[in-house]
Amino acid sequence: MPDRTIEALLLEERAFAPPPAFRQSAIARDERVYDQATKDLQGFWARAAEDLHWFAKWRTVLEWTPPNAQWFVGGKTNITYNCVDRHVKAGRRTKAAIIWEGEPGDERVLTYGDLLREVSKFANVLKRLGVKRGDRVTIYLPMIPELPIAMLACARIGAPHTVVFGGFSAEALRDRINDAQAKVLITADGGWRRGNIVPLKRNADDAVAGTPTIEHVVVVRRVGDAAPIHIQEGRDHWWHRLMADASAVCEAEQLDSEDLLYILYTSGTTGKPKGIVHTTGGYMVGTYLTTKWIFDLKDDDVFWCTADIGWVTGHSYIVYGPLANGTTTVMYEGTPDYPDKDRFWAIVEKYRVNIIYTAPTAIRTFMKWGPDYPARRDLSSLRLLGTVGEPINPEAWIWYHKHIGGGRCPVVDTWWQTETGMILITPLPGITTLKPGSATRPFPGVAAEILNEQGKPVGPSEGGYLVLTKPWPAMLRGIYRDPDRYVKQYWSRFPGVYFTGDGAKQDKDGYFWLLGRVDDVINVAGHRIGTYEVESALVDNPAVAEAAVIGVTHEIKGQAIAAFVTLKEGFAAGSEMVETLKQHVVKKIGALARPEQILFTGELPKTRSGKIMRRLLRDIAEGRVLGDTTTLADQTVVQALKQRYEEEAG
Ligand code: ATP
Ligand code: MG
Repeated sequence: MPDRTIEALLLEERAFAPPPAFRQSAIARDERVYDQATKDLQGFWARAAEDLHWFAKWRTVLEWTPPNAQWFVGGKTNITYNCVDRHVKAGRRTKAAIIWEGEPGDERVLTYGDLLREVSKFANVLKRLGVKRGDRVTIYLPMIPELPIAMLACARIGAPHTVVFGGFSAEALRDRINDAQAKVLITADGGWRRGNIVPLKRNADDAVAGTPTIEHVVVVRRVGDAAPIHIQEGRDHWWHRLMADASAVCEAEQLDSEDLLYILYTSGTTGKPKGIVHTTGGYMVGTYLTTKWIFDLKDDDVFWCTADIGWVTGHSYIVYGPLANGTTTVMYEGTPDYPDKDRFWAIVEKYRVNIIYTAPTAIRTFMKWGPDYPARRDLSSLRLLGTVGEPINPEAWIWYHKHIGGGRCPVVDTWWQTETGMILITPLPGITTLKPGSATRPFPGVAAEILNEQGKPVGPSEGGYLVLTKPWPAMLRGIYRDPDRYVKQYWSRFPGVYFTGDGAKQDKDGYFWLLGRVDDVINVAGHRIGTYEVESALVDNPAVAEAAVIGVTHEIKGQAIAAFVTLKEGFAAGSEMVETLKQHVVKKIGALARPEQILFTGELPKTRSGKIMRRLLRDIAEGRVLGDTTTLADQTVVQALKQRYEEEAG
């Protein structure tokens, strides 16, 4: 198979240097940090760790026997102590820690002092329920303050948490509880979504019926009389009752650096979710420093990461990273379109948000709705924008920069994974010149390379496999109870290096361009084409809101390109549009990227974290039985699409 990639597919030449004022006041503004970290990796991370509190200092910064890393070996610390107590002791007791915006007009602000009290009380509650250091606790909650409180309480006593996104079904919850063998489940009577109730407790009841390890279920009252629930005596307890007489004093446990902090299941975009294991010390240091430098956090900033805490982005960049920095972090319970499509911008205006961190899927949705929604709100408080989750199409980047950032805010496109725990490839906004669509370069100390099939580094602009050749502090320590899968999944493709599963290329300036998952690369007549590049060419057309591209078996070419396209409001589907779009791709990339088929659809199948599930589209196009669909946001989308595809294909 010729290992060739079309050169500079998108010919992206726009570049954005850091605005001078931004650069001058940036926390990370000295280019030399990159060299320093490369030359002395351990010294670099040790200096970051010294900002934090350790009950006992580490003996060794890193012990590395691939694939096993240990960081800050021998150190004793507690991440909750660092996220809460440390700030209270430093005179920030009355500073806002969490600003919570609820769905039906609710709001709540927790200061660092409030957080310390609530977390300590709940830690005592857990102890009273028999939770001991090392016991797993599953958390299945909506985006309400009790969620970070429960996480921090677990971490305070050394009980690993495993958060399951509140949008998951009873079945998905059951599987995750059983995999983690959790002793306690924390849930709510229900959650709000666009004015409707999500029956969390009912799902929890169904799940717990099939989970032998759960001894207690703690239930937060969120919807109350709007959805009465069943309480099973002895097993189920109301959160507020338990909290009423809990003591507000609970010493933070002095944990080992390598004590398990949490297990989190991956999104399931590529297959069965994996229980990723993160430990205490390295994860704390990694999320602390990346949050500080990448989001350039100043003491009076209001930081809003729009992810759900059920995903790693929420763990690292709503809870642990921002709180470790003593930041004011915003959490929002609802959706971007309820009660209206300007909801995000109303929240930015209301709290004077300075930094917003969201996903390309959200940005493409905002583009589809049009620029009038952000235009009717005051977004002048924003000074930095971020994105994560998928490659961002250059057109979406430009739109975000212009319509949300007013042309003045740098955009940090951050690449990372559940497994990496922290951002690994990203601009530093005071240093890096940005190119729309590129995650730019590895964070200081991070060693990323692109290899070909044979494990040799590829040349400039040649696509290949993205790998990491040196350990980083927040890296996963394994897949829970499955050491073989850990080695097989990440350390076997190229021995001794971590295989990300993603494809990437580097341009002549050394910038990294993520090409999507390796499985998503299409091979047309010997030319390797990234699905994402064809998608970006389609999205570049003013009529297109979103596109998903896959390879389908083709007698002559080996594979041909099929595109599933969502149009913006006001554009008509039809054979004329098909021709226009095919021509557009030819113009942007070249004739060999011309889609063979284009199918219009109102929605694309996505994971609950908002990523396009190309593997299901491939199943549809190849006429196969659909693979695992439990992680889909909306099951009906894929069923309808399958039917339409079969009709149109005859
Ligand atoms: P699973 O591993 O179960 O298939 P997943 O990979 O979608 O699920 P996550 O860990 O949430 O689960 O996502 C990480 C992946 O998201 C990365 O491997 C990459 O494919 C994609 N990704 C994240 N951020 C970016 C980014 N800035 N640019 C390009 N791709 C990104
Ligand atoms: Mg993955």
